[in-house]
Amino acid sequence: MDNCLFCKIIRGEIPSYKIYEDEYTYAFLDISNDSNGHMLVVPKKHCENLLDCDSQTLANLTATIQKLGKHLTENCGFEGMNVITNCGKASGQEVFHLHFHILPRRKDDGISVFAPLNKNDESLEEICACLKVQQKESNKADEASNDRNIVLYTDGACSGNPGMGGWGAILMYKGVEKVLSGGEKETTNNRMELTAVIKGLEKIKGSQHVDVYSDSAYVVNAFLQDWISSWRSRGWKTTKGEVQNLDLWQQLIALTEKHDVVWHKVKGHADNEYNNRCDALAVGEIEKMRKTL
Ligand code: AMP
Repeated sequence: MDNCLFCKIIRGEIPSYKIYEDEYTYAFLDISNDSNGHMLVVPKKHCENLLDCDSQTLANLTATIQKLGKHLTENCGFEGMNVITNCGKASGQEVFHLHFHILPRRKDDGISVFAPLNKNDESLEEICACLKVQQKESNKADEASNDRNIVLYTDGACSGNPGMGGWGAILMYKGVEKVLSGGEKETTNNRMELTAVIKGLEKIKGSQHVDVYSDSAYVVNAFLQDWISSWRSRGWKTTKGEVQNLDLWQQLIALTEKHDVVWHKVKGHADNEYNNRCDALAVGEIEKMRKTL
């Protein structure tokens, strides 16, 4: 977003006192300097507020908030914190790029976060009853969504790049695994990474919530950092020419429009059992092809 204040801060076009940064989030001191350590945590991907934000972005933000909270309480002498987000003009939101205020707290620091509310016509009982019902309903929704949860691990490999390639995918649903793999004689590593996710998602019937785990920054960041929107707005072109592997990107984008996909980047060749198994499947496909030559 060209004119968004916080996007400009993230890009370094407006100075900020940076507290923390990772691939997906950025934290900096609030300019108001109204309480000791008041900071803001924002996603690098622009969204207006909590209501306009996808679940993956929110998960990245809460992970950062937790990391900062642990740091403040374990290393900086604070004893707690308030985490607040204003959502919409009516709530007092002034900057329309999602942000969480963190107010580090000490016992008896005299900060009053919640000003007294105006008198409400509803009785306390009525309000509590209403909250309880909502809680029950949201628990039910959570249980139903847990039931539906599908996990997909994927990996691709290539011997030479381009060269002979393989892909592996493991789908898990309610403890049952489906193992998939395949290979191509002349391909690239990125194509195999993309193919692994496509093949896995293609096997899923209906429209489902799927957690996808891949070690490919190329695949995962295209969604988490929303490269896709800028490719699309520029007619599938980058400064270096046409977006590579467009055929596969278009298949994958169609599948992500069908399913509710949450992306997870895992470290490759590390200690993730399923990522390692997918890698072994991909390499196994290359070996199989080699023997038939
Ligand atoms: P909100 O009312 O929740 O939208 O909060 C916006 C916050 O952004 C306020 O607390 C401001 O003090 C803070 N803010 C505005 N401009 C800057 C800036 N350039 N650097 C740091 N914080 C800012």
